Amino acid sequence: MTLHRFYAPISGGQAHLSQAQVHQIRSVLRLDDGDRIAAFDGSGGEWLAQIQGSDAALLERLSTVVEPATHLTIYQALIRSRRFEQVLQKGTELGVCRFVPFVSERTVAAGDHPDRWRAIVIEAAEQCGRRIVPEVSPVLSFDDAVADATREGMPYMPWEEATDGPRLSVVHRPAKRMGLIVGPEGGFSEVEAYQARQRGAMHVSLGPRILRADTAAIAAATILLHRNGEL
Ligand code: SAH
Repeated sequence: MTLHRFYAPISGGQAHLSQAQVHQIRSVLRLDDGDRIAAFDGSGGEWLAQIQGSDAALLERLSTVVEPATHLTIYQALIRSRRFEQVLQKGTELGVCRFVPFVSERTVAAGDHPDRWRAIVIEAAEQCGRRIVPEVSPVLSFDDAVADATREGMPYMPWEEATDGPRLSVVHRPAKRMGLIVGPEGGFSEVEAYQARQRGAMHVSLGPRILRADTAAIAAATILLHRNGEL
């Protein structure tokens, strides 16, 4: 029987459930005191826990490994929020550890919804069994995103103008920490592409078809995580 999983603060051997979680447990899942759930607080551990009022007493640590060994960051130019939310949800399921939204020359959707974005990665982590909730950083400028990405290592920059360039699936090299820089609906400008390359990003192709930004982010993350043995 799969355990329902809840992201909640843990202290003193108890998981402290929120009002909304207690409501879901009691009224939706119809669980009672004594029933069991899984609780995780984002520190990497997960526990079998027994419901007691609005808390759950930790019983035993659950050990299956679910977190990827690869630390992948997706630097995603702001795109329409529904599509950006797709990148957050699917990226979390695939094992992405960090999302960095940024503004670029051609970003039109400039929405910034940190609370909604955080709720999406928490819900996706609960659903897929992850114990770490991926980080969603504040919106950065293009320059700051590239600077951050090149501090992480050599980031891959899928560029729609480089469709005849090296394929990501071929040039990928196994690494513990990787970065992906993906453009907006309008793509990257030449200046941006060359600036990023100057600072150490590698232009890669995702094939001859022009993918939507969210498709590109999810496909590229899948390629990298798969080639690193995480899928
Ligand atoms: N106009 C389309 C696609 C824009 S391209 C849309 O409405 O979304 C969006 C981003 O996806 C690009 O900046 C690039 O990062 C990536 N991308 C899309 N197709 C690609 C390809 N074939 N090769 C490399 N990158 C690609």
